[in-house]
Amino acid sequence: MTLSHWQRSHSFASTEINTDVVILGGGFVGLSTAYWITELCPGVKVTVIERRLCGEGASGRNAGFLTKGSAAFYRYLTRTWGLEKALSISEFAQTSLELLHHQILKASPEIKFDKTFSMTLLKKGTDRRIWEDEFPVGQFGFEWRDNLSFDSFEGGYEYAPEYKINPLQLLTSLKKLLEGRKVQVIENVSGFEITPEGCRTELHLIRAKKVILALNGYASEFHPSFKEVFYPKRAQMLAVELETDLEHQGLYYDPDDKVYWRRASDRVLLIGGKRLLDATGEVGVFDKISPVIQEGLENYLTDELGIKYKVIHRWSGIMGFTKTELPLIEKLNAPLEAYVVGGFSGHGMGFGFHSAKEMAELIAGHKQQSFFSSFNKETIKL
Ligand SMILES: Cc1cc2nc3c(=O)[nH]c(=O)nc-3n(C[C@H](O)[C@H](O)[C@H](O)COP(=O)(O)OP(=O)(O)OC[C@H]3O[C@@H](n4cnc5c(N)ncnc54)[C@H](O)[C@@H]3O)c2cc1C
Repeated sequence: MTLSHWQRSHSFASTEINTDVVILGGGFVGLSTAYWITELCPGVKVTVIERRLCGEGASGRNAGFLTKGSAAFYRYLTRTWGLEKALSISEFAQTSLELLHHQILKASPEIKFDKTFSMTLLKKGTDRRIWEDEFPVGQFGFEWRDNLSFDSFEGGYEYAPEYKINPLQLLTSLKKLLEGRKVQVIENVSGFEITPEGCRTELHLIRAKKVILALNGYASEFHPSFKEVFYPKRAQMLAVELETDLEHQGLYYDPDDKVYWRRASDRVLLIGGKRLLDATGEVGVFDKISPVIQEGLENYLTDELGIKYKVIHRWSGIMGFTKTELPLIEKLNAPLEAYVVGGFSGHGMGFGFHSAKEMAELIAGHKQQSFFSSFNKETIKL
């Protein structure tokens, strides 16, 4: 949403802000980047601009899986990049979770989180030797488990420790922490364009030395140069009340159906996925739910999990995919020093905190290129 001329003149005229670094996008990655810049360079003045409220994008709408990623994801990465590189991505993600645990989760008692495990499920009849012949699960820390008490599954690959959180609570705490560090977080204002002086929002002229775009799935709305770089795709979810509580406490992912679920609280289960039932319909930046995906999720609850439930809420969010499904952290060819950090696909809560640190290290001149530059490199001119 933008502001019309009439709405704008009823508020205030263009205000000038002077800052060192301005970050557009107040999602998990934008706020985490502000955290790392102020951690590494305490004197630097940082301003965050969020067009709605922090967490309004995917970061406040996801399933709250803090996971390094499923066994299926690392099998795909091994096929694409080879074992050594896939292992280095796994280490990167693992470090992300460790950093987030030590720096934020443990240090902020108001954030409730559960230390747990993730499980990549294999359907009955799947020959797991085929998986293990081409993908050394043990080297990635996955362990096989069977007897999961679901008729549909042979078993699954477990990985621990990982975490379950309320992502919006995490963002609220991050924002509070940043305000304590004198980071200016301005909500309900859209960033418009990067200029030689900094950037322009619908209400401000911001003079800044450096600009960071942390817009993920919305980047192509900001500038057409991102159209061939970040592909916005919708993901839908469902919250259901269970007739009988679920004893399974982990984070579950079924790669055959591309469905994920977890227990959220007493007798409440969250389930998402089934995007491929309408792959073309689920492209774009509009937040909406559709009967075909929602029905697919409900059928999954009945047919695969054998669960009796009552639907209590339905919602969606926008993810930003790259061609490689790995994040992009790069300097832009822009009128001033500017960077982009985005393209987290379905993994931003797992990869985001470490990626934000990489972004801050680039800004601080501690690094010439990010970890992901060897996987994902684009020249983007604004
Ligand atoms: C339904 C769903 C379930 C998911 N489940 C998981 C999960 O369990 N685990 C996991 O790791 N990942 C999950 N993901 C992916 C994860 O949520 C994202 O990868 C992550 O939140 C990306 O964070 P971000 O800060 O880069 O993007 P976002 O949270 O989308 O932040 C971008 C922000 O930019 C703002 N913005 C846009 N345009 C402008 C502008 N012009 N000016 C200023 N601000 C602007 C938006 O309002 C938004 O707040 C899920 C995603 C969805 C949609």
